[in-house]
Amino acid sequence: MKEILQDMSYDELQSLVLSLGEKKFRAAQLSAGLTQGKKISEISTLPGSLKEKLLERFEDAPVQIRERFTSADGTEKFLFSLSDGNLIEGVAMRYKYGVTQCVSTQVGCRMGCSFCASTLGGLVRNLTAGEILSQILTVNALLLAENAKKEGGMPAKNARAVTNIVLMGSGEPLDNYAATVRFLRNVTAPEGAGISARNISLSTCGLADRMYDLAQEGIPVNLTVSLHATDDEERRRIMPVARAWSIEQILKACENYFEKTGRRYYFEYTLIAGENSDDAHADALIGLLKGRPCHVNLIRLNKVSERALSPTEEKAAYRFLARLEKGGISATLRRQMGADIGGACGQLRAGYLSSAAAEKIAESGKNGAK
Ligand code: SAH
Repeated sequence: MKEILQDMSYDELQSLVLSLGEKKFRAAQLSAGLTQGKKISEISTLPGSLKEKLLERFEDAPVQIRERFTSADGTEKFLFSLSDGNLIEGVAMRYKYGVTQCVSTQVGCRMGCSFCASTLGGLVRNLTAGEILSQILTVNALLLAENAKKEGGMPAKNARAVTNIVLMGSGEPLDNYAATVRFLRNVTAPEGAGISARNISLSTCGLADRMYDLAQEGIPVNLTVSLHATDDEERRRIMPVARAWSIEQILKACENYFEKTGRRYYFEYTLIAGENSDDAHADALIGLLKGRPCHVNLIRLNKVSERALSPTEEKAAYRFLARLEKGGISATLRRQMGADIGGACGQLRAGYLSSAAAEKIAESGKNGAK
């Protein structure tokens, strides 16, 4: 694999351009082209000789959209291929205010949560900052081009289709800390995509030490913790990471995040039938979170075929929500978006890999028959 140009900050692009014997203003053109989601070879403002030099060292397009699925509710799921042939996935959700894109930070995951499809094959590798960024740049470019086509013009120069980002795709962002932080710096930089940290949410299964580190970075993203249980023993049953960090340690790290950044924090709570969603759990959650500057996002489990767990019934989910609210907790029950297209983490890649594997087996069977 060649190097990835989208890993670089604006300053690094400037040094690179100068080291290649070019004028400084080429860095601005290069950065603008990359931010518009272009391949290096497609950036028409750059001289051919510079592009040739760049292509000797860097991938022309580190992330490419391989497939696109559109749900009945407008949610879109993308399967991306990386330069080394690995596959990752992402989701774009359309809201009134714009498009929120969910990105992956790793190929696979090693956290081992019992309800999640991303972790089925373990961790394959970390993504680089540029591979995380390129998921957004490619989808943004595609959506902008489609919007412009509908309106019969060209995309405006600094227009943005993707307005919000959630790091909730495959992988644990804080387990790939350096690349994640580099990505956050580059995507918020005014010379690049310029997306405000306030419009970015980072979801973690609760790596408390890294949550302290993140609070010091000066990038006040919305911090979301996947809680999914109200005591450590129950949490350990579904989330192996609970063996490393207790709920108490996680809550302390959240408090620190609030003190350092002034941002309230969020919890994801996936409602799993028979596991974590009866009245006693709601009361325990109230006990843990009451009076804290936080918000709880409830979501009914997306059924993953490889997993035995089932979602809480819809009625019981609303009951859980009402009980939290009555207990003074700010909470929402999120719609399950894109359930018909494998909306849950890792489902698409898992499904794709198994059907690809099935095809391969069928293929080798055919060859064997020859
Ligand atoms: N590793 C990070 C981010 C990726 S997962 C984290 O754990 O937060 C994003 C969210 O989707 C997490 O809250 C995760 O617990 C949840 N999730 C995973 N599989 C799910 C499923 N099958 N149904 C509902 N939510 C799921």
